[in-house]
This record gives sequence, C-alpha cells and structure tokens, in this order.
Amino acid sequence: MDATQISSELTRVLYTNDQIQARLADIAAEIDEEYRDKDLLLVGVLNGAVMVMADLSRHLTVHLQMDWMAISSYGSGTQSSGVVRILKDLTTDIEGRHVLVVEDIIDTGLTLAYLIQNLHSRKPASLKIMTMFRKPEALSSPVEVSHVGFDLPNEFVVGYGLDYAGRYRNLVDVATLAPHVYS
Ligand code: 5GP
Ligand code: MG
Ligand code: MG
Repeated sequence: MDATQISSELTRVLYTNDQIQARLADIAAEIDEEYRDKDLLLVGVLNGAVMVMADLSRHLTVHLQMDWMAISSYGSGTQSSGVVRILKDLTTDIEGRHVLVVEDIIDTGLTLAYLIQNLHSRKPASLKIMTMFRKPEALSSPVEVSHVGFDLPNEFVVGYGLDYAGRYRNLVDVATLAPHVYS
C-alpha cells in the first residue's frame, strides 16, 4: 500500500519510497567499497528490518549472506518497555565473520546496545551497524552507527517495515500516524 490509500490514517509522509531507495543506493555504494574483499554477513533484526534488508541487499554488489534475529523491545504501543529478549537467534556462527547489523530504526538505542554486546561476545572479525532511520535520542546512545539512512524528528512513525500494533508494515513510504488511529 502507499500513503494515498490510507491517507485518512496518516498525518504526513516523511520519506517516500523513491527517497528511501535513492538513499539506500548511496549507502550500498559505501558498503560495497568497505566489504569489497571481505565475506559479508548481513544480520537483519526482525520484524522491522525486513524491508530494509530486502532493498539494501539488492542494491549491493558484493557477495553476502543473510541471517536474522528477533528481539523484543516494544510491546504493541509506542513506548519502550525497557525489556529486551532474544525471540529468535542467528543460525550462523559469526566467529571470524564480518557482520553488518541491519536495523529499521534506532530510538533510545537500548535494543541495539544489548544486541551489539551480545554479538561482540561471539567474536566476529568486525561488527558494524546500518540503520534506515534514527530518532534524536539515539545521538546520546553510546552505540556507534556506521550508516544512517535518515534522521527523523521525535515522532512515532509507521511504514517501510515499521508497525503500529502490527499494522502498516507494508506501507511503502514512512509516515506519522493520525492521532485518531491510536487514541
Ligand atoms: P530503541 O530500543 O532504540 O528505543 O527502539 C528500537 C525499536 O523500537 C525499533 O526496532 C522499533 O521496533 C521500535 N521503534 C522505535 N521508534 C519507533 C517508531 O517511531 N515507530 C515504530 N513503528 N517503531 C519504533
Ligand atoms: Mg529494529
Ligand atoms: Mg514494532
């Protein structure tokens, strides 16, 4: 679906799918350069990063493999619960591998800080992070991010993999929700 199909539920579109794809092409060019002679493993964080992973990986020209982790941080609402749990672990042994974590959005960075600490203990050859979106609070997180798609204002957004109560992940753009949807 695109924003015109559910326009009554959205306040405004922050980034269109065309803008997202153009930015991903630029980031992919940087990643291609960095991993040219390396064996790259993309680690997608389910469920939100599904769209980023699908699109970023297809912009890349280096050889790569993909694996997935599922981590819970938020419940069905818009507030961070502070509780982080591994719901699904990697199937790949990442020891000695060049790992690039692919994230949908970083807000407090709480989820990512936990994830990075966990992955570090498995002794990868390198460990970097790419995120499609970043909220202002993430700037005060100690976690270093190598590639950022777009910086967002401090508003709850949906689309391009990001949900509200499980919905709107299939919106191709990224938009803010109208208050009547969640009140
Ligand atoms: P953090 O731990 O960085 O605060 O939260 C990261 C996770 O919270 C993301 O992977 C995503 O699931 C969720 N999240 C944070 N901000 C937003 C937002 O604006 N919209 C949606 N749909 N999810 C968000
Ligand atoms: Mg995420
Ligand atoms: Mg969510």
